[in-house]
Amino acid sequence: MAGKQVKKFEFVVVGGGIAGVTCVEQVASRFPSADVALITAGLQIKAVTNYKQVSKTLEEFDVEERPSGVLEERFPNLTVIHSAVKSLHTHSHCVETADGRVFGYKKLCLCSGARPKLLTQDDPRVLGIRDTDSAQEFQKRLSKAKRIVVVGNGGIGLELVYEVEGCEVIWAVKDKAIGNAFFDAGAAQFLIPALEADKPQAAAPCRRLCYTTEEPGPGAAQTFTAGGTSRGRSSGSVEPGSALGPDWHRGVELRGAERVSRRVSVEYQCEVEKIFSSEELLRSPQRPLNAESEGSWPVYIQLTNGKAVGCDFVVSATGVVPNTEPFLRGNSFAVADDGGLQVDDHMRTSEPDVYAAGDVCTACWEHSPLWQQMRLWTQARQMGWHAGRCVAADVLSEPIELDFCFELFSHVTKFFNHKVVLLGRFNAQGLGSDHELLVRCTKGREYVKVVLSRGRMVGAVLIGETDLEETFENLMLNRMDLTAYGEELLNPDVDIEDYFD
Ligand SMILES: Cc1cc2nc3c(=O)[nH]c(=O)nc-3n(C[C@H](O)[C@H](O)[C@H](O)COP(=O)(O)OP(=O)(O)OC[C@H]3O[C@@H](n4cnc5c(N)ncnc54)[C@H](O)[C@@H]3O)c2cc1C
Repeated sequence: MAGKQVKKFEFVVVGGGIAGVTCVEQVASRFPSADVALITAGLQIKAVTNYKQVSKTLEEFDVEERPSGVLEERFPNLTVIHSAVKSLHTHSHCVETADGRVFGYKKLCLCSGARPKLLTQDDPRVLGIRDTDSAQEFQKRLSKAKRIVVVGNGGIGLELVYEVEGCEVIWAVKDKAIGNAFFDAGAAQFLIPALEADKPQAAAPCRRLCYTTEEPGPGAAQTFTAGGTSRGRSSGSVEPGSALGPDWHRGVELRGAERVSRRVSVEYQCEVEKIFSSEELLRSPQRPLNAESEGSWPVYIQLTNGKAVGCDFVVSATGVVPNTEPFLRGNSFAVADDGGLQVDDHMRTSEPDVYAAGDVCTACWEHSPLWQQMRLWTQARQMGWHAGRCVAADVLSEPIELDFCFELFSHVTKFFNHKVVLLGRFNAQGLGSDHELLVRCTKGREYVKVVLSRGRMVGAVLIGETDLEETFENLMLNRMDLTAYGEELLNPDVDIEDYFD
């Protein structure tokens, strides 16, 4: 940094997403006379609105994009700098931005988020959805499309296939069931009829201790059409903005060029082997699914189940990669296997005076047995909040404990228009065979799954308006031995809240 003029700040936060903004709010309000900077690549910042603590650990909120001036008005000691950080020099405690400016810090918190893990880089036929710009590009291309392929089984894939209308969607998932990151095959089966958009049918609740579901094998496909029935089918960069989040598609019309409503075909247990053009297809021995349209699609993908599928474009929704590159060069950060910056329970990275929060980091403290990291809005907010408090506590040499929100994983969201609450080890993650499942399901109305380990409730998936989240949360947090209750726990005729009062 020799020769460059350095503007010094007490605290610098990088990233105007939910983690960075929450962190900077904490620090700027805690130290009103300290100079604080928020350096962000995007033009807008993210703001949490309508925050509601639903229960001890469950929270709900909206997220809005706002001009950064709103933050500066609230905190006169805050300066927002709109430029991407291109390098970090931990020895001299300064960062350099893309526009050539250098900013010094005493404490730094990195909240630069993550970007989509794309099937191929720089291929215009493959789109990733992350921020407002990429969502708009998707919408524009969709409006002219007759068929798209969505690859990926996470939250974005789930949302897309449900929201897109007027365009055939082929959905390639590597698992035996949809939504593998969020729930099990039983819940997937519960949700799949919603793809047909029929009115939910009321049925008698059925209860079972454990369930088996006929899972589609490799090469199997299922098609769901709005108003139709499901049937089997035989094998035949610019600067990164903040990530989108809940309801990102609200107000965005996701409509293709066809008159049809929803038509989704799922290809299970397969991945993309190759992406190629129609000319390449003609030279290839593979036949596309629809022989009539052979050679007429702009792009084809070869799946590992042997099928070749033609489409207008491919959406890659196969997870994210933490945005760490500008910070790694010349420094010695400990990086986790998933590419995130390792942080301890004080959100400290391995470099002195550098903290991290949100999608860019990997929580490497010893987790509570009921918590795991998932790159979600809620955790970005919680980590940003905790990081801000930890920075303050470290500066003031005050002790600080890991926040209570990290005791129990909890997430509330919507999939296929059903409310979904996930608690604890909702998918029996890390439990091996040391668990038992209780399931109650009413077709179209609710799906309740409880994970028990050694008599204690350690996880739950609640789909629909079950009203069980608070009671289950308490049972998990209290580590209560439920052996004596057995199947009664899910008896629909028993008011479980009264039971444990
Ligand atoms: C399409 C989509 C749908 C989603 N749906 C949900 C959902 O339903 N529920 C849910 O809980 N989560 C959802 N998520 C995930 C959620 O959006 C993220 O977990 C969350 O936004 C992460 O927040 P963050 O602050 O860590 O990162 P981000 O929001 O990505 O913010 C990162 C910030 O860092 C800035 N930045 C990046 N690099 C630099 C740099 N070098 N220098 C300066 N600034 C930089 C960016 O401009 C941005 O302001 C979704 C994500 C996507 C993409």
